[in-house]
Amino acid sequence: MANLEIHQFPCLSDNYGVLLRDADAGIVASIDAPDAAAVEAALKDKGWTLTHILVTHHHWDHTQGNEALKAATGCTIIGPQGEADKVPGIDTKVGEGDTFKFGGFDVEVSETPGHTAGHIVYHVPAAKAAFVGDTLFAMGCGRVIEGTMEQMWGGVEKVAKLPPETVLYCGHEYTVANAEFAISVEPGNEALQKRLTEVKALRAEAKPTLPTTVAKELATNPFIRVDSPEIRANLGLQNASDADVFAEVRTRKNNF
Ligand code: ZN
Ligand code: FE
Repeated sequence: MANLEIHQFPCLSDNYGVLLRDADAGIVASIDAPDAAAVEAALKDKGWTLTHILVTHHHWDHTQGNEALKAATGCTIIGPQGEADKVPGIDTKVGEGDTFKFGGFDVEVSETPGHTAGHIVYHVPAAKAAFVGDTLFAMGCGRVIEGTMEQMWGGVEKVAKLPPETVLYCGHEYTVANAEFAISVEPGNEALQKRLTEVKALRAEAKPTLPTTVAKELATNPFIRVDSPEIRANLGLQNASDADVFAEVRTRKNNF
């Protein structure tokens, strides 16, 4: 049975890098390339050799290391077909419903536009893990920059519908700020109160609050909890559609 080793490390000011290795197949992927030097240091740390970069979206803090890493290692860059022209060094374009092999693992691609027009997430069902870039964060979600609120809700909902035990690797450590906003719209949520305390304690020791899981986000993330009666009442949107509640939560977070 193949084993997918996953190594997460902080880089830039608040990004996370993630390396995946299938040792049997002798291959290693970097999820995005926020910073070539940081990815190289993490590879050296683990004694791993890079063979692939899996890009979630084109933003500089996810792709600026692509070309240097490709020049150094000859790695193959896989990325979103919806914005391939903005992804430096891209070799293979993937989109909604595509599945590709990473060693012994099937990787399923979903398009989650909104933060960027072509954002994708990678789900590895056999490893119970997904790499969601800037679509979803712990108790938060990405800013809606290139798409509509409706599109972003669709992407967030796709992640929320993955199996609850799925471990989610996200692009940024925004967790405490997200939790403080979350509690402002759902102060009566006990799981959220407890999680806010936990993540503050972790950050006080400079420890990561990620990865998270789908189950934890279902219990505490206001961008997913659009059917919460408390959130709907606080927003005055008792009878609104899920997408409209999502849009209002996102708008309030922008102004929080
Ligand atoms: Zn981004
Ligand atoms: Fe980012």
